[in-house]
Amino acid sequence: MKTIGLIGGMSWESSAEYYKIINETVKEKLGKLHSAKSLMYSVDFEEIEKLQHQGDWNKLTKIMIKAAQNLEKGGADFVLICTNTMHKMAKDVQANIKIPLLHMADLTGKQIQKQGLTKIGLLGTKFTMEEEFYKGRLINNFGMKIITPNKEERQIVHNIIYNELCLGKINESSKQKYIEIINNLIKNGAEGIILGCTEIPLLVKQKDVTIPLFDTTTIHAKSAVEYALKE
Ligand code: GLU
Repeated sequence: MKTIGLIGGMSWESSAEYYKIINETVKEKLGKLHSAKSLMYSVDFEEIEKLQHQGDWNKLTKIMIKAAQNLEKGGADFVLICTNTMHKMAKDVQANIKIPLLHMADLTGKQIQKQGLTKIGLLGTKFTMEEEFYKGRLINNFGMKIITPNKEERQIVHNIIYNELCLGKINESSKQKYIEIINNLIKNGAEGIILGCTEIPLLVKQKDVTIPLFDTTTIHAKSAVEYALKE
């Protein structure tokens, strides 16, 4: 079994899910007392969130590279960045370590492709919904058409992530807003929805909507186990 390196703490609410899903999946696959070999480098999200909203991506890139290098030094065989947003730095992180980085957008794209869907709605932070680093990868590597909510809705989705979900607050009214926004994406032709922020699966579940949801936390965590157990 390979050792999984996790860059976590963004937020710890979702890193806890990664830890749980990874170990449950190993148990499911190997049985007995088996659990995952893993290391987590967990950051202080208050510092990260400030730098994100100040636009200091250079400093954030340095922090992510250092975290990945520490995991590599600690014996990780590969690395996951446990947040969609911080994949903005994925290329730089990969360029500065020798072990592989499992890219969330690629793994999610593969799952969507398996289901034969091409027009997909994307929910996440404004960084993820509005910039090219994530959407571009899905468009270029998988030929998908990605649609996002309108400007006002994107702000709502973003605020709920930082002001509620990353603080462990799960509000019914926010869930209803998300469902309304997802239904608007469906009206605009979405065949599936990427929950492109690792905390959104804490709020919205498959049973809440009528089209397939792609939960990036679960996809990323399960893919990590598959990779760790591969010959
Ligand atoms: N966990 C979130 C994501 O997947 C947002 C937190 C962050 O900004 O890293 O994008």
